Amino acid sequence: MNNLELLLRKYAKNFHISDNIIKDDKIEYLNFHNIITVTDNKLTKVSSIEKLINFLKKKLNSKFIILDSTEPNYEMIESTTKEIINGKYDLVIALGGGSILDVVKASSVYENAFEKVDNFAGSKKQYTKKILRTLAIPTTAGTGSEFTKTSVYKTETNVKTWLWDELTYFDYVLYSPSLTLELPNNITIACGVDALSHLLESLISVKFNSQNLELCNSGIKSIWFSLPKLIENKINIEERSIMLLASGIAGKAIHYTGCGICHCIAHTLGSMTKVPHGIAIAYGLLHTIEPTLKYNQDLLSRFKGLFKDSTMDSLAQEIQNWLNNFKINFNTIENKINFDEFMKIYYLEDNKCMRDNTFYKPTESELKNLLKTLWK
Ligand SMILES: [Zn+2]
Repeated sequence: MNNLELLLRKYAKNFHISDNIIKDDKIEYLNFHNIITVTDNKLTKVSSIEKLINFLKKKLNSKFIILDSTEPNYEMIESTTKEIINGKYDLVIALGGGSILDVVKASSVYENAFEKVDNFAGSKKQYTKKILRTLAIPTTAGTGSEFTKTSVYKTETNVKTWLWDELTYFDYVLYSPSLTLELPNNITIACGVDALSHLLESLISVKFNSQNLELCNSGIKSIWFSLPKLIENKINIEERSIMLLASGIAGKAIHYTGCGICHCIAHTLGSMTKVPHGIAIAYGLLHTIEPTLKYNQDLLSRFKGLFKDSTMDSLAQEIQNWLNNFKINFNTIENKINFDEFMKIYYLEDNKCMRDNTFYKPTESELKNLLKTLWK
């Protein structure tokens, strides 16, 4: 067991790592009689995932729900919950990236088959019954959704919002690094940057708690070195495995603290455009890390190991350089955003938990200046 796995095991007992799920007979999480698997139509074309799908179909007799490869919305959650209830399944497997994991968590509770999901958004109302056991098999390394109780989705009015409930979680997590080997570089980068931002936002959050010190600093260090190595050579099972574990650690970190300013910006951009979450996060991080760190100089003491002796200036600069090295394309958002509409969504009540979880709370005019390359 490597150090990263040991660290995650301190906080989560319910995960197993397997290089080959099909041949691994130590996996107890699959011992169920009536299984349904939720995945998306793009993934069914990836050869390693296709093999796993065939195994689940033929050996475990799993039924399938194949969703469109788009961001989750209220309708997807309501129809998936209905299908799960009607089939009287005892295990639902989420095979996919953050969107699939989020849909499955939200579709494992009774009420979403009979009531509007939007009634529960922003924890306005609680769920009363989890219908079945849930297993996550993440096919990207980034979201950390396997260890949070949050699902992000679009409401009937097309606004990106969140569900959080004590009952919306995964009972089991199965990490299989080989499933992520074929990911294209742009997705590996977007997901990895998202995970790094989870760790940074958690480390500098208002709700910060001392147990996050170790989770965040170890996770940051791992992603900092692993992600650039994967872009050099994407077929590197060891680095893929580090990225999965570090993303899980990041998921645990935000489970304790929640996210902050970058996620508030990214959710706003995600409500207005089809920008992938990780790209919006990269933009937010690039443009807010400097004022955020400078606003509260005490935050520096939370950075251990890698950044122990940094100054605020050098730390912000290093993070910006790290991001810039990936040459991320922001064409889908730069010069395309209406400022007034952005502000309306940014200041929605449901976004308050993220806005208030970073010490630095920019005013409208500060945001106008910080994010100036967005406005049309
Ligand atoms: Zn995120």
